Amino acid sequence: MTLAAPHQTQPLRVAVIGGGPAGLMAAEVLSQSDGVSVQVFDAMPSVGRKFLMAGKGGMNITHSEALPQFVARYGTTQNTIGKWLAEFNASHIQAWMQSLGVESFVGTSGRIFPNEMKAAPLLRAWLHRLRTYGVQFHVRHRWLGWANTHDSTSHSNTQTHTLRFANPQGECEVMADAVILALGGGSWARLGSDGAWVSMLQAQNVSVSPLRASNSGFEVAAPWSEYLRSRFAGQPIKPLSARVQLADGTHTDWQRGECVLTEHGIEGGLIYALSSILRSQIEQHGHATLQLDLLPDHSLQRVTDTLLQSRGSRSLANHLQSRLGLKGVKTALMHELLARELFVNAQAHAEALANGIKSLTLTLSATRPLDEAISSAGGVRFASLSESLMLTPIPGVFCAGEMLDWEAPTGGYLLTACFASGRVAAHGALNWLRAPR
Ligand SMILES: Cc1cc2nc3c(=O)[nH]c(=O)nc-3n(C[C@H](O)[C@H](O)[C@H](O)COP(=O)(O)OP(=O)(O)OC[C@H]3O[C@@H](n4cnc5c(N)ncnc54)[C@H](O)[C@@H]3O)c2cc1C
Repeated sequence: MTLAAPHQTQPLRVAVIGGGPAGLMAAEVLSQSDGVSVQVFDAMPSVGRKFLMAGKGGMNITHSEALPQFVARYGTTQNTIGKWLAEFNASHIQAWMQSLGVESFVGTSGRIFPNEMKAAPLLRAWLHRLRTYGVQFHVRHRWLGWANTHDSTSHSNTQTHTLRFANPQGECEVMADAVILALGGGSWARLGSDGAWVSMLQAQNVSVSPLRASNSGFEVAAPWSEYLRSRFAGQPIKPLSARVQLADGTHTDWQRGECVLTEHGIEGGLIYALSSILRSQIEQHGHATLQLDLLPDHSLQRVTDTLLQSRGSRSLANHLQSRLGLKGVKTALMHELLARELFVNAQAHAEALANGIKSLTLTLSATRPLDEAISSAGGVRFASLSESLMLTPIPGVFCAGEMLDWEAPTGGYLLTACFASGRVAAHGALNWLRAPR
C-alpha cells in the first residue's frame, strides 16, 4: 500500500511509543506500507522487557479454545475486543510465530506455547525482521508529552505532532504525522510500564479509568498466624476449587485450579482467574469472601462419612490424610480458619467440619499492590477512543495494548489482545493518514 500522495517526496512519519508486544505489532503492520517511516521509541535500554518476563515461567502466548469462549474472557469489553480478535486471533498468532521460525504447541489445558516455552527466541527473530522492514528503534527515549500538536512543516495535510523525549543526551523533539501509544499498564514498573502516561493523557482531556491490580494476589483481612506464615508461605495449595460469595448471597460457579499461600494471603492461577470479581467486591463492600473446596475430588457426603468413621487410635490428621489425602498446607489452613471445637470431637461435628473443608471461607481485604500484579485493569476508556483506537480528543494519536481499559485472566488472553489491538491501531493510523482532509 502506498501512502505518500503523488506530490510527496518524503514518507509519512509514524512514531510508535512503547516497544512491548502491542507497539511492536503496530510497527510491523505500519512497516509493511510503502511511503511510511516507522520509528519505535522506548524508555528502557531495550524493548520487550515485560514480554521477556512473560516468557520466564513458560510463555503462554494464546489459547486454543473456540473464539466465542475466548472472547467471553474479556467480560464487559468482549464486544469491542471480539472485533479485534475477528481479525487476529490464536490461529493467526500461531501462523505469525511460524513465519518467524518459532513453532508452537497446544498444552493439555488448551493453552498455546512456543515449543521452546520462552519469549527470547521469538523476540529476537521479530526484532530482526522489523529492522529488515526498515523500523528504526530508539531506546532510552522516555516520552514526555507534546511540545505542540500542530506543525507547519508537515509533509501531508494531516496534523503533525511534535513529541518530546528525554534521552541520555538531554531532551529531543520528534515530528510525527501519526502516533501510536502502546505504553503498557502499571505493573512491574521496573520493566518499563510505569503508568506515568495517565496524567499526561488526562491533561489532554482523555478519559482514563484508574490503573488497578489485575491477575494479582490478595491480602486476608485477619493476618495469618505466625505458625502458618512461617511454615507454609510459598506453598502451593492443589488441587483446589474456589468460588466467590457475592454480597447479595449468590456466588460464582466453582472453578478448579491451584493457588499459593503467601505471607499476606493468597495468589496463583485460580485466584487470578477470580481477581476481577474479588477486586470489585472489595471496591464496593470493603471486603470479598472467597470459598475454597480443599477436597474437590470428594463429595460432601464422602467427607462427612469419613469423619463419622471410627478411626481407632489414629489421629484425626492421619485419618484425613490416609482416607482423603488431606495434608500439609491444606490441613494447616483448615486449622487456621475453622473453629477449634470442631476438631475436639470431629465425629460429633462431622457435618460442620465437612462443610468447612468443602467451603472454607476466607475474607479478603485488599489486592496486593499494582506493581506486583501480572497485569493492570483500568486505562484509556473506550469512550475516548474511536473504533480504530484513535483518541478522539487528540486526532492522529492511537492507543493499543494493556494501556486500554480492559482486563482478562491469564491463559494467553492478555498477549492476544495486545497483539490484536496493535494491529487495529496501526490499520487505524494508516487509514487516517490516507483519508482526504
Ligand atoms: C510476570 C508476568 C508474566 C506474564 N505472563 C503472561 C503470559 O504468560 N501470557 C500473557 O498473555 N500475558 C502475560 N503477561 C502479561 C503481558 O506480558 C502484558 O499484558 C503485555 O506485555 C502488555 O503489552 P503492552 O505492549 O501493552 O505493554 P508492555 O509490554 O508493558 O510494554 C510497554 C512499553 O512501553 C514502554 N514505556 C512506558 N512508558 C513509556 C514512556 N513514557 N516513554 C517511552 N516508553 C515507555 C515500556 O518501557 C515498555 O517497553 C505477564 C506479565 C507479567 C508481569
